[in-house]
Amino acid sequence: MTAETAPAILEIDLGAIVANWRILSRRHPAGPVAAVVKADAYGLGAEPVAAALYAAGCRHFFVAYLNEALAIRAVVPDAMLAVLCGLISGAEDSFAAYNLTPVLGSLDEIRRWQDAARAISGSSKPPAAILHIDTGMARLGLSQYELEILAREPDRLDSIAIRYTMTHLVSAEMPTDGLNRLQRDRFSAARAMLPPAPASLANSSGIFLGPDFRSDLARAGAALYGVNPTPDRPNPMRSVVRLSVRVLAVRDIQVGTPVGYNATWIAARPSRIATAALGYADGFHRSLSSRGAAYFDGTPVPLVGRVSMDLTTFDVTDHPAVQPGCWLEVLGTHLSPDDVAAAAGTNGYEVLTSLGHRFHRVYRTA
Ligand SMILES: *Cc1c(COP(=O)(O)O)cnc(C)c1O
Repeated sequence: MTAETAPAILEIDLGAIVANWRILSRRHPAGPVAAVVKADAYGLGAEPVAAALYAAGCRHFFVAYLNEALAIRAVVPDAMLAVLCGLISGAEDSFAAYNLTPVLGSLDEIRRWQDAARAISGSSKPPAAILHIDTGMARLGLSQYELEILAREPDRLDSIAIRYTMTHLVSAEMPTDGLNRLQRDRFSAARAMLPPAPASLANSSGIFLGPDFRSDLARAGAALYGVNPTPDRPNPMRSVVRLSVRVLAVRDIQVGTPVGYNATWIAARPSRIATAALGYADGFHRSLSSRGAAYFDGTPVPLVGRVSMDLTTFDVTDHPAVQPGCWLEVLGTHLSPDDVAAAAGTNGYEVLTSLGHRFHRVYRTA
């Protein structure tokens, strides 16, 4: 599909992603900033994103699952490539073969990685792992009970090189939430029970919580992709994505004419309706029905009626220049992922990871 015939064009600015990584790196002088490229780099394309960051000097990457790591190993050949969601039983050999770093969050995972390590001993260095400590998320990570066992029986960690111990903040985007300090203190206490190793604490928002939340390795995802890590303040990150959708049809309707499924919007004045090539199958959330907007020529155009699977309707009565073939911007400098998220009742992360696969994608490097 070429840009000429595409229903929609998603432009991804790799240069802005690299610029964002540099902004975050300056904000985190204690240690490097790893790039979190899970979920296909939050929907933007793990391979081109990881390759661009690698070329800029980034040498630490995180994905969620083994298959995501295998998909980008070739573009980050000698970087640390860590798998956040743990070591699924049976995956040990692939981790070893591709020099992947598992994030271990249970005694069972530690035992299996140690067994795998012993099986391939003969190699000079013990295989590396990251130890994940649960300090308040109750999702993955070593519990207090498991930490006590490890403290009593340190030989459970014998054949493993602990590259980092890490924990994950629950509410880092809310700087006044007391949980941040509580988690940081629990993390320090947990680290004191384990063999000495560098620490990894902050996610994107954690980098902005100040010096107490710095560590040997930050792990940034959302902010790289332009989501505001400081939601109560202006966005320090550069805009990364622009989504332009084609107007397929424009029609004039009378007062009282309903638009779209379930007739949820009815024209209160003689209106011009533009139907655009975008729907919830493209990750444009149905909850944006009669709430979202697009931009035409720098001015907002209200979304009217239901978002349907492949189509969305906009009221262009006040925009006579809108004609079939025109482009409307539904994400970009006027309308950030955070703006769309606010209208959709979600967060910028979900807006990005929902982006569909029918767009013509263009990667910019300037
Ligand atoms: C996704 C994730 C991150 C990145 O978080 P952002 O808020 O996107 O920066 C960091 N650490 C862990 C454990 C994660 O799951």
